[in-house]
Amino acid sequence: MANARRESRWAGAHVWDVPAHLVPIEGARRGVLRITRDASVAETLHSGMAREAAIGFTADVIHLPAIAQAELPPNLVPGLVRIAWDGGSPDGRIPELLRVGACLDLAPSDGALDALVECSEGGVMCRLVDLAAWTTAPEALASSLEHYLTSPRLEAPIEPWHSIARGIASRRPRDLSGTYDETLRRNYWLGEDGSVSLSERHATGGLVFGRLEDGPEGWQQSPAWRALEARRRQPFLRRSTCAFCPHYLWCGAYAADDAGSPDPAWCGVWIPLFERLQEAADIAWAEAGEGEPEEYPG
Ligand code: SF4
Repeated sequence: MANARRESRWAGAHVWDVPAHLVPIEGARRGVLRITRDASVAETLHSGMAREAAIGFTADVIHLPAIAQAELPPNLVPGLVRIAWDGGSPDGRIPELLRVGACLDLAPSDGALDALVECSEGGVMCRLVDLAAWTTAPEALASSLEHYLTSPRLEAPIEPWHSIARGIASRRPRDLSGTYDETLRRNYWLGEDGSVSLSERHATGGLVFGRLEDGPEGWQQSPAWRALEARRRQPFLRRSTCAFCPHYLWCGAYAADDAGSPDPAWCGVWIPLFERLQEAADIAWAEAGEGEPEEYPG
């Protein structure tokens, strides 16, 4: 019995993106649940205790005033609030974005760069979302990086550039999967229908581990889980381009197929950006008198 109980609990940090109905705040689209103690994610969700562990949620920008004025549940630990940009000008919204500790999630479209510049210079953290779509807008993607690297008025991080830059500076690699909460065994995404996947991107792609009640043991037996585990190994088993790519530490074969082969369209856009970031980091190191950063462990 003791063993069964231990097996049903996972220690460590887990991030869940849970349905909005578990986060009773007007405008919330998804809850982000972080469990850092030895707790069963399934039990936590079912017990109604989710609010105790929830540290953030995603919401529409149109609900910003309501969120800023909302009385949060007394046991909610306040954390990052991800606000989906609605395509409008953030003009006049920055104080509210700052008040709720928002991270503005920007998908590519007309006006996205202007919103990115205005918010990041106004102290609001920004994050590019839907990287596949950004890859089809390479000039805008490159401009977002140049803004991050060169703006003298930047006051807040821009993801994914900030995580990559920190990885280079600290010599602690962090790839795009880590930056976007898509790390197998660490991150989970719970659909409104109770299905469990790694992220919404993976769920949309048909990679579903099972249902909440199947638990970790069941999810790990699923074809989707095994496929994702195999995907991590494929670049090295097959000696594909990704295995020898100098940017693997930051990209992590984010857009590779099941055989571990990269998408040339992705690489053509992202490799020059990774090189630009590395170049900027090297210059910063040299100016700081630190010399060349040490090689990363292979
Ligand atoms: S940039 Fe291309 S080759 Fe390099 S790790 Fe990413 S997908 Fe693979």
